[in-house]
Amino acid sequence: MNTSSLPRIAVLATGGTIAGQAGDASKTAGYKAGVVGVDKLLDAVPALDSVARIHAEQIASIDSKDMSAALWTALATRIDELLAQGDIDGVVVTHGTDTLEETAYLLHLTVKSAKPVVLTAAMRPSTALSADGPLNLLNAVTVAASKDAAGKGVLVAFNNQIHSARDVTKTSTYAVDAFRSPETGVLGFVQDGRVEFQRTVVRPHTVASEFSVSSQWPMVEIVASYADVSRVAVDALVAAGVRGIVVAGTGNGSMHAALMQALADAVSHGVAVVRASRVGSGHVMRNGAANDDALGSVSAGTLNPYKARVLLMLALASGVEDLQRVFDVY
Ligand code: ASP
Repeated sequence: MNTSSLPRIAVLATGGTIAGQAGDASKTAGYKAGVVGVDKLLDAVPALDSVARIHAEQIASIDSKDMSAALWTALATRIDELLAQGDIDGVVVTHGTDTLEETAYLLHLTVKSAKPVVLTAAMRPSTALSADGPLNLLNAVTVAASKDAAGKGVLVAFNNQIHSARDVTKTSTYAVDAFRSPETGVLGFVQDGRVEFQRTVVRPHTVASEFSVSSQWPMVEIVASYADVSRVAVDALVAAGVRGIVVAGTGNGSMHAALMQALADAVSHGVAVVRASRVGSGHVMRNGAANDDALGSVSAGTLNPYKARVLLMLALASGVEDLQRVFDVY
């Protein structure tokens, strides 16, 4: 095969279980994430040679539970630099599963290129029996190398499925089919070298997004509503200078009266409040289970609290005033 005609894909490694190592191959939970380097991850997948020419970079070596806004800035900046190069056709990011959906959505809203960007991960460490990382990595590179993946925003290739970064969420603590797109379903499939899209993404992203990655991230936190919740957390956040609060509300974004009063007070201090739901699927309607007009809040629609936080951070960083508009649009 003439490999010089293959697409050139940049693989950016950040750590995670896909780069995890355990002393015992039977261990799928007791291991250290983010210790195996990108070259070793690639060596485990010889079939990559017939899919793409790989340019590899180690961006970080972390457990994604420790993802930071500073690393988001570095990762997004590096992706934009690489995709601006004529000799790079797409990017794959290897990541931990824990915060993958947050990083993926952040990149979906900030990357300034229509070339494919595909995140992947693994539920089992690289040393495990039946490790899922190598096939997920092969599939992610296969998607990134596919012309069909261009212009669809940031994608997640996992367990033979292709998800949109906007909709995907982790739904299992242990299963290898750990990701779902609850309200919308998968975009398509990747198996044995074949990439098949069955639907597309209609909300704006990447080159059509008004947002850019920031180096100054506003403080935005999440609080939950539950039986007998107090106002202590909200009051402490306001005292700490929080700019935005996302509420993981009950049901359709409803909340305990004590929390509602605390949030009304927070709004009067200039804090942006977004209502999302802790349920895990469905949407939160404006003026539905709570009166946003009266509270001065914004409804998150189908974004879960963690993704709503990403959008709120970007919106506040770029000085958006009509916050409900961005939640309705993105
Ligand atoms: N704690 C790991 C991480 O997110 C979990 C995983 O990758 O599956 O980095």
